[in-house]
Amino acid sequence: AKAAGRDAVCFFKSAMGAQARARFTLESELRHAIDAGELALFLQPQVDGERRLVAAEALVRWHHPRRGTMPPGVFIPLAEESGLIVALGDWVLRRACGLLAREDVARAGLRIAVNMSPRQFAQEDFVARVRRILADTGADPTRLLMEVTEGVMLDRLADTIAKMSELAALGIHFSIDDFGTGYSSLAYLKRLPIHELKIDKAFIQDAPGDPNDAALVDAILAVARHLNLRVVAEGVETEEQAAFLRARGHLLYQGYLFGSPLEAEGQIERWLAEGAL
Ligand code: C2E
Ligand code: CA
Ligand code: CA
Ligand code: CA
Repeated sequence: AKAAGRDAVCFFKSAMGAQARARFTLESELRHAIDAGELALFLQPQVDGERRLVAAEALVRWHHPRRGTMPPGVFIPLAEESGLIVALGDWVLRRACGLLAREDVARAGLRIAVNMSPRQFAQEDFVARVRRILADTGADPTRLLMEVTEGVMLDRLADTIAKMSELAALGIHFSIDDFGTGYSSLAYLKRLPIHELKIDKAFIQDAPGDPNDAALVDAILAVARHLNLRVVAEGVETEEQAAFLRARGHLLYQGYLFGSPLEAEGQIERWLAEGAL
């Protein structure tokens, strides 16, 4: 029994070692990916009640040379823990601003929403970096949205408010992502310069049949009305979900029903060809 125990410990140790090694490998590959041009920016449409294109969310992809395309759910957490998210986030923001500065995109007034990590906000020079990217690309800041999760507001609230206010003064809009899944109270919301709430897809997908989720969606819409905020419903996949939402008033829709995320330049070409832009 003792030997078996020892074997188990050895096995455990080597398994841990393998896991740690795999992690380390992936981390150094990700570090390299940014410079190697392996990251790609995808855009997913956000439409109004008449299905008109009004905005797009920027979503990053990693075309790994051997593993194929990796979803952000795999590498964003790794980037967050290792701090690589700061360089990755700068890359995404620079790409998104480059698209906003395109003449055809700017003329159409398309807004682009970019996901921001709390680690980016925590950078001492965060505001300066954003200003730099805006200046380098020539993007109109009033067309840029930053999606932040409720987590961004929990730590360093005063610092976050200060930075958000400075960016909001430039015309950048803020959206609270995955709203309803975190801990933010109305008191927090009132103190932040935000313009939009995004209802998490978990609520949207069950809402038509689940009275609890339907009540939550109604509560979020009431908060938004009270604070005069725009609302985006994410993860809309079926006509039934869209109809459920449409009956509840004026909001924006994002989800496979209206369009999947596609590689940015290709997506823009399609929109131009369709006359959506
Ligand atoms: P998120 O911000 O909540 O993004 C929405 C996710 O829902 C995206 O997954 C999108 O592809 C997916 N989605 C869109 N429509 C539908 C639908 O109708 N049904 C379902 N089931 N899913 C839908 P994706 O692209 O895999 O991204 C996952 C998460 O990774 C994002 O969640 C976001 O938190 C993070 N992420 C993506 N790009 C970036 C980035 O550039 N920076 C940072 N910090 N995080 C990012
Ligand atoms: Ca998002
Ligand atoms: Ca979400
Ligand atoms: Ca549910």
